[in-house]
Amino acid sequence: MSLGNGRPYLAIPGPSVMPDRVLAAMHRAAPNIYEGPLHEMTARIVADLRRVARTTAHVAIYIVNGHGAWEAANANMFARGDTALVAITGRFGEGWAWSAERMGIEVQRVDFGRRAPADPARIAEALAADRAHRIRAVLVTHVDTASSVRNDIAAIRAAMDAVGHPALLAVDAIASLGCDPMLMDEWGVDVLVAASQKGLMTPPGLGFVWFSDKALAASRRADLRTPYWDWEPRANATEYWQHFCGTAPTHHLFGLAEALTMILDEEGLEAVWDRHARLAEAVWAATLAWGQGGDIELNVADRACRGTSVTALRMGGGGAGRLRAWCEAEAGVTLGIGLGMAEPGTPAYGDFLRVAHMGHVNAHMTLGVLGAMETGLRALGVPHGPGALDAAAAALSGR
Ligand SMILES: *Cc1c(COP(=O)(O)O)cnc(C)c1O
Repeated sequence: MSLGNGRPYLAIPGPSVMPDRVLAAMHRAAPNIYEGPLHEMTARIVADLRRVARTTAHVAIYIVNGHGAWEAANANMFARGDTALVAITGRFGEGWAWSAERMGIEVQRVDFGRRAPADPARIAEALAADRAHRIRAVLVTHVDTASSVRNDIAAIRAAMDAVGHPALLAVDAIASLGCDPMLMDEWGVDVLVAASQKGLMTPPGLGFVWFSDKALAASRRADLRTPYWDWEPRANATEYWQHFCGTAPTHHLFGLAEALTMILDEEGLEAVWDRHARLAEAVWAATLAWGQGGDIELNVADRACRGTSVTALRMGGGGAGRLRAWCEAEAGVTLGIGLGMAEPGTPAYGDFLRVAHMGHVNAHMTLGVLGAMETGLRALGVPHGPGALDAAAAALSGR
């Protein structure tokens, strides 16, 4: 007998839960790709992608996952031998750095560990030391999905401006867009990268790059641009195929259009942000309660520096690994593994897990995950403090 039979819930930070409406929108015959409704829908999607990132910037859509979107951004920002300054606050900052390195870009890392956000002063210091302006862009992960650290993008922009360095500010919002506020224009972001399968609630397969006029001008000297990655024809397509450099990702577009309508026109973007913040509070409150009676703690101590779409937590003595296995087999909930934790100073793989509360997730789902975790801790005899579900209910009810 297992209590896990029933509808499974993949509570990992991407692919996230896809609304039935998104899947239903994709369940159709292939449309005409040369003319007709698909073209009108694509124009609407581009406008909605601007709304969801609070920007008037250009948008390019690629048929890729997040790794492909990183590479797209790199190809347009850099020439061979240019330098990227990369802020590392978890596994994903390192991933973007590695992608750049493999493309022949010099990478200068500023490592902030795995439990704290980037310190804008250290970024400013590195830029100030670059008198020859070899650094073409500063790459920052908004919410690092491995550590759940959230970086203060506006503060990083202010620090860059204060030293008067011309580098572009490029931000990976793959784990945060449609979850945490992202104000691309207000925060002075030049290049923004995202993908379909997290806050945007669509299957993996679409990557997005938004870019400012300044970034467009800079890209004209980027000798890493190749026909497929070049963002200019995609954003300023005069023929429909130019949007996608070939066949359009037809069914993903139908799904994405539906998801954007749900986020922007039905629930409303600010309500979506608030829902994520509230669900995150419940997960944090429960974890803090468990930690009162056991070796369990949030990876990021300062609440202001935590993303609201995913929570990384430490559970010593292999408890995290055992709890993940129990939750999947006995409760039908798959929790996220600890990522990038093989690095020095990080906990063992079995001592770390992640809970996603990203995208199409509501109170009963998050309470269900926390209830399953509570039950698993009990079943496994993992020491933990009492009152976690009470604390989650308090966070959600506001009382
Ligand atoms: C998921 C994620 C990526 C990588 O996306 P893939 O689709 O797995 O390639 C990159 N950055 C962040 C912040 C992510 O959350």
